[in-house]
Amino acid sequence: MAAPATPVMQQHAAAKRGYPDAIVFFRLGDFYEMFGDDALLAAPLLELTLTSRNKGKPGEIPMAGVPYHAATSYIARLLELGHKVAICEQMADPSKTKGIVPRQVVRVITPGLVTEREYLDAASNNFLAAAELSGAQVGFALLDFSTGELRAAELTDAPMLLAELTRSRPRELLLGAEPGAAILAAARALGRTVVREDAALETAAEDEALGTLARDAQALSPPARRAVARVLRFARACNPGAELPARRIGRWQPSSLLAIDRVAQGHLELVESVSGNRAATLLGVIDATETAMGARLLKRRLLAPLTDVTRIRRRLDLVEAFLVHPRLREPLRQSLAAVGDVERLSVRAALGEATPRDLGALRDGLIAAHGALTLLEAVSDPSLRETLGLGAAVDTVDDLREVLVAALVERPPVQPKDGEIFRAGFDQELAELAELRRSGGEKMVELEARLRKETAIPTLKIRYTRVFGWYIEVSRGQASRVPAEYRRKQTVATGERYTTPELDELADRITHAEELHRERELGLLAKLLETAARSSDRLQTLAARLARWDVAAALAEVAHRYDYCRPSVDDSDVLLLRDGRHPVVERLAARGRFVPNDVSLDLEAERLWLITGPNMAGKSTLLRQTALSVILAQMGSFVPARSARVGVVDRVLSRVGASDNLSAGESTFMVEMRETAEILRSATRRSLLIVDEIGRGTSTFDGLSIAWAVAEYIDEALGCRALFATHYHELTALGDSGRHVANYSVSARELEGDIVFLHRLVPGAASRSYGVAVAKLAGLPEVVLARAKALLLSLEGEAGEPMAAMKIAHAADDQLNLFGARSTDHKLHSEVIELLRALEIDRLTGLDALQLLARLKTKI
Ligand code: ADP
Ligand code: MG
Repeated sequence: MAAPATPVMQQHAAAKRGYPDAIVFFRLGDFYEMFGDDALLAAPLLELTLTSRNKGKPGEIPMAGVPYHAATSYIARLLELGHKVAICEQMADPSKTKGIVPRQVVRVITPGLVTEREYLDAASNNFLAAAELSGAQVGFALLDFSTGELRAAELTDAPMLLAELTRSRPRELLLGAEPGAAILAAARALGRTVVREDAALETAAEDEALGTLARDAQALSPPARRAVARVLRFARACNPGAELPARRIGRWQPSSLLAIDRVAQGHLELVESVSGNRAATLLGVIDATETAMGARLLKRRLLAPLTDVTRIRRRLDLVEAFLVHPRLREPLRQSLAAVGDVERLSVRAALGEATPRDLGALRDGLIAAHGALTLLEAVSDPSLRETLGLGAAVDTVDDLREVLVAALVERPPVQPKDGEIFRAGFDQELAELAELRRSGGEKMVELEARLRKETAIPTLKIRYTRVFGWYIEVSRGQASRVPAEYRRKQTVATGERYTTPELDELADRITHAEELHRERELGLLAKLLETAARSSDRLQTLAARLARWDVAAALAEVAHRYDYCRPSVDDSDVLLLRDGRHPVVERLAARGRFVPNDVSLDLEAERLWLITGPNMAGKSTLLRQTALSVILAQMGSFVPARSARVGVVDRVLSRVGASDNLSAGESTFMVEMRETAEILRSATRRSLLIVDEIGRGTSTFDGLSIAWAVAEYIDEALGCRALFATHYHELTALGDSGRHVANYSVSARELEGDIVFLHRLVPGAASRSYGVAVAKLAGLPEVVLARAKALLLSLEGEAGEPMAAMKIAHAADDQLNLFGARSTDHKLHSEVIELLRALEIDRLTGLDALQLLARLKTKI
């Protein structure tokens, strides 16, 4: 039986009851302590020593603690692992409280609800999301608690949800008790997201959760409304008493955005590279933003390009304006560099969490923002003003800036106790208290000098410690010379400590002045915070405008630095890139060594380009650069080309053959086929398809047949713009058959058995695959190369026929009939062998086996 708990442990039990799924950080003096299961769970995760409270007595309980001033890094580690942390604080000053200090959970920190810089990536949003299924519809809500942005959308199916989850990468996702299999599967596909089951939400509770946003929510569909209510309820429960930073519900229409699905996002290395090197991503190349807001906006735009021509052009106009006016762009960027993260700072102010240091940063940001605006306002040309969005006045929150400038010292401390916060002349009363404190200090110095003289002890000192207060210290050898009226306080290693009535009185006066000073200072700080909090809406608006200028100026800077051109964007079915380059590869290549290439797709003419060429020739690079340029153009950026025309694309779909895409776990071929199936299902006439060497993950004949059928399907059934790289030469037959298919190849030249890559795209199929030459380049031994060459010659001589057979079969009959009339015994054998080789017996059911036997029999 458990022993009766002490009052403190009863407080802890109450906190734990309120937040059973959180690790409770229970403030005891200078420590946050964890007890019981929390301690057992967290101690090993945080490498803390596990001790216990009430050791050896009834009521002994495991305990582990961290110093309160170092809590942040420990909390960060727990959040990283997906845990929630409830902060239970002392609600009164223990030194002034009789009996037990009241304690209360003031905040629950979860990965999706953090506002501290230490827990956040400055260049990324940190979303808490909720998805709600109703019929076939999915309501989806995103809240970035750190910036106050709240948005909702209606999605029509689970794949769309997966696309939106991929775009936003929420840190935390709330799902109802029975979210449905499709939603669960989508949620699981995301790596880092913490998925939480959220309690049932009654309609009445929904209204309550929406609070003042209920009116805004009227326009939403029921599932979207419910999703918004979920994130708000969760945020409220975690921040008891705080007013949430979200002030409006934004909406977005996924159908008005360019869809880039998860696989394409990874394959194209938009924001993450396979190697983990950020510089090797598109974002790494184009992110020249100067503010954190700008960096976040740029990333969001990159993952959510537009499909609306007018909006795209408007963005391009702004970039162009900054490009052609370097004398505006350059100083503006300099000003923006000093703006900092006004957006997140304003939220911290609104939540009352801003430290004096934060307020100082906000002040500096507002000064810089004011400077930036002054530069822009100097523009007189009306049309340029219009492009810059200066039609309506921009509120730079000058009143708050002036207050902060008048109030704060140059660099305020993080904690009030660590230094002065306010300027000397800011507050009369504070100045008087400071003077009192200072003169008290001076009087102590005087007293010390006088006592030294009176006692004739030259080493006599007056000192202060937090625990003992003020005292006179005399070394042991001198103790006999101390006057009798001195009262002994303490003996220490270095000597004896005393006090006198005079010292006590002076000490009281100083302490009192200090206390009053501190109180006054905290009072002023609270008032200042309140002023900042009242401005937070205006600060958010300002931050959003600064972010847009920052992004446009950054894209202009990139266009200038790397010589990008303005794409002409329209609703046509054309995709034309003259001298297009790969934005990332060209940066990594030696200067001037990247070979530009043209791509020209048109639904009415050549819509599917079949690209052949040896390994390492540059096929994949060409495919990716084309997709990247479309994404850049539609997000409103210039593109790496001499000229470009982009008929708006609705989705970019990209698939890579298994051996180019080493994913673990599942059979790579299975993954490849599943992904291929997915793109064939979701592509429309307006999509851009990038298919890179599919069919590699299986035997030659399987692979060739599948690649062939896929290419045909793209051309005939989908009829969209597509680039198709393949090492199957046989496929080039499709280009001769009067379809919308054209053959191109990336050229290489063979010089005395050595291969020279030209990286130049030319019309027509590649003449041969140069495999042996590439092998030589890779350093295969001479004997092996010689043998391979001999084999190649004999194979080409004797057995060109599987390939020839295909061409003939294809020409004779438009249906895919790979293994039809002309098959020879040789081919048949290898085919049967291939089939058997590909068999995974232990995965075979009895029925499968019978069917396979039947298939083999019909073949022979
Ligand atoms: P493939 O897909 O044909 O095997 P890749 O596209 O992977 O070839 O290109 C191989 C390498 O060749 C790339 O890593 C890059 O360094 C270089 N490369 C590709 N295209 C070009 C180009 N246009 N100009 C210069 N170098 C290129
Ligand atoms: Mg390749």
